[in-house]
Amino acid sequence: MTADGRAAVFLDRDGTLTHPRHYPSRPADLVLYDDVVPFLLRLQRRGVLLIVVTNQSGIARGLFSEHEFEAAQASVDQRLAGLGVRLDGVYHCPHHLEGSVPALSVRCSCRKPEPGMLMRAAAQHGVDLRRSWMIGDAPTDVEAGHRAGCRCILVHRAQDVDAAAASGGSLVAASTAEALGHVLRMLEAEGEVVAAVRRTALAPGEAGLAPGTTEGLG
Ligand SMILES: [Mg+2]
Ligand SMILES: [Zn+2]
Repeated sequence: MTADGRAAVFLDRDGTLTHPRHYPSRPADLVLYDDVVPFLLRLQRRGVLLIVVTNQSGIARGLFSEHEFEAAQASVDQRLAGLGVRLDGVYHCPHHLEGSVPALSVRCSCRKPEPGMLMRAAAQHGVDLRRSWMIGDAPTDVEAGHRAGCRCILVHRAQDVDAAAASGGSLVAASTAEALGHVLRMLEAEGEVVAAVRRTALAPGEAGLAPGTTEGLG
């Protein structure tokens, strides 16, 4: 949460990390966008936390159980792990006001656009929210990100709708891979700035940062 905390990329799951599907609940429903993997690997190598934040009102609606959600998510985790990507956290909101499971049919602080999942993840992982990003395919994703204090990118694949209006002033990308590429370039640029400031702060004659050591800063 602090200024020297880590940068994170918060990712919506359904329609952002995996192909859109109506209430996906089985492993076969969750098909990863393969082109995101190289970007996730590079972000992970830079020390950026990768955290999924996903609304799962299907649980409150009685469409699938908490256990089924966990099993389906485990299949995504395993697929990513097989490609070398380890998610640092997965946060889900099981609530919905119009659900059929009484205990979950409540107004909560975690269902996006509420920022609760991002705030909880930030506290648990020591995230600097202002250096972090939220990427999602719904206006509620970017609204949650803004309310948490993150920078946001709306993934907008359709060409027909007014993306700028839906984005609430966020950046808009045509794919999740494009969004992740932008985040990577921004973080790399910020890393260069940090390295340059540190070089300047060294007294003459002291060894500066060797070329190539900027990787990992920021
Ligand atoms: Mg989505
Ligand atoms: Zn919730």
